[in-house]
Amino acid sequence: RRVGYAVVGLGHLSLEEILPALGSCKKSKLVALVSGSPDKMKKVAAQYGVASANCYSYETYDQIKNNKEVDVIYIVLPNSMHREFTVRGAAAGKHILCEKPMANSQAECREMIDACNKAKVKLMVAYRIQYQPHNRKLRELVQKKEFGDVKFVDAHNCQSSANPDHWRHKKALAGGGALPDIGLYCLNTTRFVLGEEPVEVFAYQYSTPGNPLFKEVEEMVSWQMRFPSGVVASCATHYNVHESRRYRVLCERGWLSMDKAYAYKGQDLSSAKADGKMELHQNIGLAEKNQFALEMDHFSDCIIKNKRPFTPGEEGLQDHMLMEAIYQSAKEGKPVKITALADNKALH
Ligand code: NAD
Repeated sequence: RRVGYAVVGLGHLSLEEILPALGSCKKSKLVALVSGSPDKMKKVAAQYGVASANCYSYETYDQIKNNKEVDVIYIVLPNSMHREFTVRGAAAGKHILCEKPMANSQAECREMIDACNKAKVKLMVAYRIQYQPHNRKLRELVQKKEFGDVKFVDAHNCQSSANPDHWRHKKALAGGGALPDIGLYCLNTTRFVLGEEPVEVFAYQYSTPGNPLFKEVEEMVSWQMRFPSGVVASCATHYNVHESRRYRVLCERGWLSMDKAYAYKGQDLSSAKADGKMELHQNIGLAEKNQFALEMDHFSDCIIKNKRPFTPGEEGLQDHMLMEAIYQSAKEGKPVKITALADNKALH
């Protein structure tokens, strides 16, 4: 069977990626919409064949509990709204797929996890990179030690942003600046690739004085994470440089590099391997697949087979705990030890 999705929020990500991707899903289908813009919703509903009875406003959202066609609520709203719509959605008895960052704080993440546990519904954070084939392949090669032990990771996710009035530049709506929005990809993907959790972080934060874009949220964060194996990851995120999104994993006998690592498509995976006095370079080409469709079908499969999602709420909570430590380190100007994990069993 196909699992029925209600998509909440009809902004860029929903209109340009998620709704089209639902069309290429094998186990998931669009059945309902939730929006604060009735006119836009009417047009989108007509385009995707969603019945008007399955269109909800933010006010009528709770009535979704009476709609048997809806199994999953996919929350694609500004970050500050994730907590409320998750809690209300869980109370309506629906499984929740929530966009990243999971919320604005670890306290909100805990509330969301508790609400879903109490309602006995599943909660997954939409970390699409963890379902993207090139990134999965790189992780597999690292964890099989194809290039020997990992020694160092270098990752950045940078873009330029131009509109100070956008919600991403309002602290109350976004929770922060470059770090929770795009730096999160470096943090989450490094943890995913290494399969271990940092024990210490050290960070710098900077915003150009007087730039209206960065009145409320930060322009740049650069941070290091130390892992139990001795690996150090050096990460950076910026809201005010030309787009660049890549990481490289340096190992004893070679390296793996991912360009366009966090993009919607076009991932470019290459490697170099020491072979005596030679160095073998390889571009590891894989078939392009829609990562949003893979991610939604994974969650649908978990619902059909009653399995725990690969990126459960605890995965989001762990990132928020680390981001709070990163901000603390930047503020205090010294390393911060990580003494607690979100949940040992849920993290890989
Ligand atoms: P967007 O600004 O394009 O859309 C946000 C939607 O929320 C709009 O339809 C808007 O009308 C609605 N909204 C409701 N209340 C609002 C308010 N008070 N202020 C502003 N908008 C309000 O944003 P987006 O890029 O679609 O991002 C939505 C979510 O998806 C965010 O959490 C973002 O981090 C996440 N996202 C994830 C990815 C990914 O690759 N996984 C990519 C982009 C965005």
